[in-house]
Amino acid sequence: MVAMPARSPENQDERNKDEKSSYFNLPALDISLAFPQATPASVFPPCTSDYYEFDDLLTPEEQTIRMKVREFMEKEIAPIMAKYWERAEFPFHVVPKLGALGIAGGTIKGYGCPGLSISASAITAAEVARVDASCSTFILVHSSLAMLTISIGGSELQKNKYLPSLAQLNTIGCWGLTEPNYGSDASALQTTATKVAGGWILEGQKRWIGNSTFADVLVIFARNTSTNQLNAFIVKKDAPGLQATKIENKIGLRIVQNGDILLKKVFVPDEDKLLGITSFWDINKVLAASRLIVAWQPIGISMGVYDMCHRYLKERRQFGAPLAAFQIPQQKLVQMLGNIQAMILVGWRLCKLYEKEKMTLGHVSLGKAWITLKARETVSLGRELLGGNGILTDFLVAKAFCDLEPIHTYEGTYDINTLVTGREVTGIGSFKPAALNQRSRL
Ligand SMILES: Cc1cc2nc3c(=O)[nH]c(=O)nc-3n(C[C@H](O)[C@H](O)[C@H](O)COP(=O)(O)OP(=O)(O)OC[C@H]3O[C@@H](n4cnc5c(N)ncnc54)[C@H](O)[C@@H]3O)c2cc1C
Repeated sequence: MVAMPARSPENQDERNKDEKSSYFNLPALDISLAFPQATPASVFPPCTSDYYEFDDLLTPEEQTIRMKVREFMEKEIAPIMAKYWERAEFPFHVVPKLGALGIAGGTIKGYGCPGLSISASAITAAEVARVDASCSTFILVHSSLAMLTISIGGSELQKNKYLPSLAQLNTIGCWGLTEPNYGSDASALQTTATKVAGGWILEGQKRWIGNSTFADVLVIFARNTSTNQLNAFIVKKDAPGLQATKIENKIGLRIVQNGDILLKKVFVPDEDKLLGITSFWDINKVLAASRLIVAWQPIGISMGVYDMCHRYLKERRQFGAPLAAFQIPQQKLVQMLGNIQAMILVGWRLCKLYEKEKMTLGHVSLGKAWITLKARETVSLGRELLGGNGILTDFLVAKAFCDLEPIHTYEGTYDINTLVTGREVTGIGSFKPAALNQRSRL
């Protein structure tokens, strides 16, 4: 028997040196060369997930914008998204191109905004999310939260001042409700707004605020110390006392720059208070509309995952046949497809209820919660179908799988949305433990 040399620290150092020179300095092999049998998501798969021909339910204008967004996302975003996602960096160079798509501002009419139908706005969110959920969240926060709040709560002067450049994405918005100690319980938030001569002093902290590290216009919610109600303020990027720090180490939506915001005696002039937001109920009006758009993000994510799996199963061969020829992969694929058709129909029905001004907070909360639940099942099946490549960002599914997790949590977690609908259908709120409810009644 040959004795192995002892692994002394010196030997280990030598081994490390050798390994470094032979492996670590080499660039990783391009995925198409390393795994030639299946096409990566940088060449995005054709849309095969619209099985029940949802297009038939859309107007010609809605169909046109859907195709325009789909083509843009497949051509411009698909080739770059995995790298930006891995580096957790934002691709600033695509912002003007996203602006030129004419989707920011969604349903807002006038002030340079596109005035889309709610269905068009929802479908564009899905089409963006189909290719990249981070991109979709960037637009959602900017458009369906920041811009919508200005549109609902702002004066004519404020709308004319802020909305046109936000619609072009020449300036970027963010929306700060959540605080470190008030997430699901956001209506109890503690950032304060105190009246002083000529304006307001904001003092407090925000957490998780998307786009906040680079936003020009920060819509911040704070408790009015005179009325004890929640109000909204437009804070400018360079306001003294404002600090936004990027939250690191996220496992999903890594391209989105979420920030912790510190507000230390930040002065906001009277002209930047949104007079139409006088309580949490006004914020709920924004949330109802934005939640409908959020509900379409998991639909888009699931469609992209299905499309990817559909192509992959035909390309990848094992045991002498494409994976698509085996019964178990087919069953999983069809389960995903069924989920997607049902999700689309629920999302579409919500749009129609919204158009007729019949959609309630309970309706949309049920929709967002249920669609996200089905999307989680769908991407999880997709992740199984791709085997080892199901954990690589190159083939979309792993990235989409991770991106869905924050969407399960933001705009009301699955639980909170369930409780919103539960309150509506029973007439009994169950957000607080019974003992606390009892106390608050006394
Ligand atoms: C990627 C990302 C982006 C975000 N972007 C923004 C943004 O741009 N602006 C913004 O203002 N916020 C943003 N948020 C914040 C988001 O809205 C909150 O994370 C969400 O409301 C949940 O709050 P929390 O994380 O503090 O969880 P918690 O409220 O601490 O909840 C933790 C768990 O407890 C459960 N729970 C809490 N209360 C109850 C209850 N009463 N009954 C039953 N279960 C309960 C929840 O369902 C959850 O499972 C973002 C979050 C993420 C992750």
